[in-house]
Amino acid sequence: MTDAKRKRVLVTGAGGFIGHHLVKRLKSEGYWVRGVDLKLPEFEPTRADDFQLADLRYFENCTRAVDGVEDVYQLAADMGGIGYITAIHATLSRNNILINSHMLEAARLARVKRYLYTSSACVYPANLQKNAEIVPLREGDAIPAEPEKGYGWEKLFAEQLTSYFGEEHGLDVRIVRFHNIYGPLGTYQGGREKAPAAISYKVATAEDGSSIPIWGDGKQTRSFCYIEDALEGMRRVMEAGITRPINIGSNELTTIDGLVDLVCEAAGKRLRKEYELDRPQGVRGRSSDNTLIRSLLGWEPSVSLREGIPRTYWWVWHQLARAGKARPPEPQLGEARPTIPSALVESASATSSLSHAGMGKAGAHGIVSTTLR
Ligand code: NAD
Repeated sequence: MTDAKRKRVLVTGAGGFIGHHLVKRLKSEGYWVRGVDLKLPEFEPTRADDFQLADLRYFENCTRAVDGVEDVYQLAADMGGIGYITAIHATLSRNNILINSHMLEAARLARVKRYLYTSSACVYPANLQKNAEIVPLREGDAIPAEPEKGYGWEKLFAEQLTSYFGEEHGLDVRIVRFHNIYGPLGTYQGGREKAPAAISYKVATAEDGSSIPIWGDGKQTRSFCYIEDALEGMRRVMEAGITRPINIGSNELTTIDGLVDLVCEAAGKRLRKEYELDRPQGVRGRSSDNTLIRSLLGWEPSVSLREGIPRTYWWVWHQLARAGKARPPEPQLGEARPTIPSALVESASATSSLSHAGMGKAGAHGIVSTTLR
């Protein structure tokens, strides 16, 4: 089939964790995919047919990004772990509102067929998340609003804005609320990493029998959703035409202590936990109520932590081993190995010929486009 006959879709944030996985998923389904991001994927080459290095805070770059595509998956966002998103409220909110407002307007003008926005569990009110023994969050809980400062307020407003574009301009929108997505190929150091990757890093670099620092008292609760479930959820929501906000999250609740224990088990290490109570911890408890997604799709995320954490740890350990930073033992997965070990081999050339040619990042207004086939 020639490119022109295949459906063309855009994934923004295609250099990031979920976006890169989504590009691979859409390619495996036969789509022609354009990826756009400030940077290329960190750990393996993109599979996108066309990849634009561009800053989506600028309207003209959004216009180029949506040119000729039917569907848009809007994943670009300035975001990171709890330490990052609680540190720079003004910068992060401004960056994200520029990306979201310009992407919506560009999509409207280009008459794209379908537009999916990736929101977050951070839109939910703080007062419903004060206890570790929580009631899972339902979609209707988001308003009246008391979301997380900065990142959460922007996500909630961007959800509203996306809906308004549906109501006023007839844009066919989808809004998914992700709850802590994790898995291989996610950032595990540098400040933007999330809890499963951050803990995997600490455990992989620790000497067996030593101790590792834990942010908070370890009793805060969360649910974590494996990347394959997040991709499946997004694709199902897109195809089912659900226009109201919908959770994509696991309802398997764990404490941070429990998460650390699972990582240690995957690692085959015994480590002491040293609690750092002055570090950011986010809300006390959070989980996803999946009644709506079950009733509308007959589906919900199902990969357990016991399946997903070993795959994630295995991947982080091997990344660190290549840099000479992983401490033994080497984790063993057998059949549960993630289907991406080629990343370990390919990642030496992962930033690909683009970055070697000095094209690894887009400049301020810059846009660099290349066709990768
Ligand atoms: P990520 O940080 O790995 O990916 C986001 C990408 O957006 C990055 O590659 C970044 O370079 C890009 N980006 C940032 N500013 C940009 C700009 N001005 N122009 C172009 N690209 C820009 O994050 P992710 O985990 O892949 O998240 C994807 C989406 O899902 C985001 O919208 C995020 O808010 C949302 N989300 C993620 C989680 C999670 O647990 N990972 C939870 C809730 C919501």
